[in-house]
Amino acid sequence: MFKKVLIANRGEIALRVIQACRELGIKTVAVHSTADQESLHVVSADEAVCIGPAASAESYLNISSLVAAAEISGSEAVHPGYGFLAENAHFAEILGECNMTWIGPRPETIRRMGDKAEARRTAQAAGVPVLPGSKGALSGSAEAARVAAEVGYPVILKASSGGGGRGMRIAHRADEVATQFATASAEALSAFGDGSIYLEKYLVKPRHIEFQIFGDSTGKAIHLGERECSIQRRHQKLLEESPSPAVSPDLRRRMGEVAVRLAEEVGYLNAGTIEFLLDGDENFYFMEMNTRIQVEHPVTEMVTGIDLVRLQMQVAAGEPIDVPSNLTPRGHAIECRINAEDPETFRPCPGPLATFQPPGGPGTRVDTHGYEGYVVPPYYDSLIAKLVVQDNTREEAIARMSRALDFFVVEGIQTSIPLHQRIMRHPKFRSGQISTHFLDEMLAGEVAPQAQEA
Ligand code: ADP
Repeated sequence: MFKKVLIANRGEIALRVIQACRELGIKTVAVHSTADQESLHVVSADEAVCIGPAASAESYLNISSLVAAAEISGSEAVHPGYGFLAENAHFAEILGECNMTWIGPRPETIRRMGDKAEARRTAQAAGVPVLPGSKGALSGSAEAARVAAEVGYPVILKASSGGGGRGMRIAHRADEVATQFATASAEALSAFGDGSIYLEKYLVKPRHIEFQIFGDSTGKAIHLGERECSIQRRHQKLLEESPSPAVSPDLRRRMGEVAVRLAEEVGYLNAGTIEFLLDGDENFYFMEMNTRIQVEHPVTEMVTGIDLVRLQMQVAAGEPIDVPSNLTPRGHAIECRINAEDPETFRPCPGPLATFQPPGGPGTRVDTHGYEGYVVPPYYDSLIAKLVVQDNTREEAIARMSRALDFFVVEGIQTSIPLHQRIMRHPKFRSGQISTHFLDEMLAGEVAPQAQEA
């Protein structure tokens, strides 16, 4: 096992990796910007290196500073967390050239699956169902219109390099294609430095179901079940659960087989996620692959009892995956993302945490870098905590989450806690009748307020 690992990230995920390292007896090196000097990941690691000013482009995205910090500290491996450079093949490659281990997939896999148009092609070649759409990136809006006419409206125009719900536009009619293509492409260019766009059929009210997969250096791949991530705002996840109320054992087996096949086809190493859209008739379609640990990994950990970050370390150190083949998930887990934001406008709400009292109690886990007096900086992601619960049934897990949300006291800034409380009370959520449009519908007041209180 590694003796020392550098964590190229901040916030709750940096802390999560430090915890896993401590349990494995690995020394940790934190990196931080000048704005994160007082951050919990900095004080919790064995060593800390300042890598630059507040702006992420000059610190958490600064490859040369990170490589220098890893070399100077004598780190043997680097864990990228999620976001920042977690899916940057170039960074993974440079670390390899410096004889350091990247705790993640091989650079060529990151590159291949990171281009969403290319990933779609790879999935299709492996016999994985994909939605009808363009073969690869489109040459322009004229080709977009041609393909859209073939597959039928509505269609979605998506950035090949996309992520975080950006660079995506829906066209409902032919006369919308040119503008939506231009908008998506411009947004993608400014966000990802790559304006290339592909197109696929837009499913009306699908579910987002993703499979956690893992591959080791022997070429073996496994899946650890699904997560339902349909509760989204602007294509960004807000709440995740496992198992999905829509996935029967038979559908799980079929989707899991496909996910494992794709993972083995690309010789996948370490943790990854294969995302699918599921329609009302149990048809599922590959959407994309994330070549890293996900924000929502704890729901899988809660129902499988497997520490995924520890497994990442073990697999990166060359150990085979040691997971029982007859593993069956235990009960039900839900994660609520607690963001520092206005629950009505969704605007980020940085500032000091005057009070910060996370809940405890049975089956309740809080992954957070927050503490009383901590000042949430305005420069980064607004996620301040992940509240995760587990119980025997979905109904009990919802009751447990409602209780845990009530006991989560944050003062000084606004958070998404009240929004999650509303979701927990919503009859449609409680019945499991959800789609990627659930949150918009709830916010539009589709269900009468008195029914929500039921
Ligand atoms: P990103 O990488 O930016 O997260 P994804 O490809 O994962 O983008 O898509 C994010 C979300 O956008 C999905 O969870 C779903 O809600 C919506 N979406 C993407 N593609 C489609 C589609 N073809 N039909 C319907 N909804 C889609």
